Amino acid sequence: MPLSITHLGTGSRGNSTLISSDDEHVLIDNGFSGKQLEKRLGRMELKPTDISSILVTHHHGDHGGGIQYAAKKWNIPVRSNYFTAEKLGMLNYENLHIFENLDRIELISKATFLPFPVPHSGSENVGFSIVDDNGEKTCVITDLGSHTDEIIKHMKGCSHISIEANYDLRRLLSGPYPDRLKNRIMGRGGHLSNEQTGILLSEVIDKNTKSIVLTHLSEKNNQPHLAESTVLYHIDDIFTGDIAISLQDGPEFSHFIGQSEKENMSVKV
Ligand SMILES: [Zn+2]
Ligand SMILES: [Zn+2]
Repeated sequence: MPLSITHLGTGSRGNSTLISSDDEHVLIDNGFSGKQLEKRLGRMELKPTDISSILVTHHHGDHGGGIQYAAKKWNIPVRSNYFTAEKLGMLNYENLHIFENLDRIELISKATFLPFPVPHSGSENVGFSIVDDNGEKTCVITDLGSHTDEIIKHMKGCSHISIEANYDLRRLLSGPYPDRLKNRIMGRGGHLSNEQTGILLSEVIDKNTKSIVLTHLSEKNNQPHLAESTVLYHIDDIFTGDIAISLQDGPEFSHFIGQSEKENMSVKV
């Protein structure tokens, strides 16, 4: 079976992404309660004890809030950088493995994971580039107010990209948030707007990009049709693959890396 990626749910109330290869399963982030994690994995016919590792992007509650509980209850190894482990209060956890950014991690037999730095306020956030044994590359990247040349380098050549499209600028500006919060979201350490995500994708995708999932949509300041149409506006002339949206309630469809679109649906709901 090829490598697959399934978002168990993304957004400000919790994020977790499942990467599977044969009978090996890894999570990126867990912002869900133990009960929610069990329920969402259950829809994939999996249990938390099937997870061989949790990789953490950063410590914010929607990504790291459920890690301590899940790790200790089911004795799951946790992998993060030092800053994130410290912020999560996990430094004394016996199954903690600290990684350095840009050190490739071999986790499951068919894939390696490379954490790379992603600017996001008050955190040492990372994105992951995942390479399978056929050399197919996948990128999972979220919570960034702006992009760097290094991020572009890791996103280029991917057959699948999961990236946040957090807000529609007009909705954010006319919405209920106080100005300080609006400025933080729009700032360099905040989140990407639909427009910014579209422009970034237009710089990195090529004919090999088979699928894109837009994640972490703000429930107040975005709508799936706005995210999709704004991003497509920027990439329509180059992108011929499949675009999907991950919302707060998952899991959504699994994307199989390096497989044709027709084989992309496997979630049992
Ligand atoms: Zn965050
Ligand atoms: Zn977040």
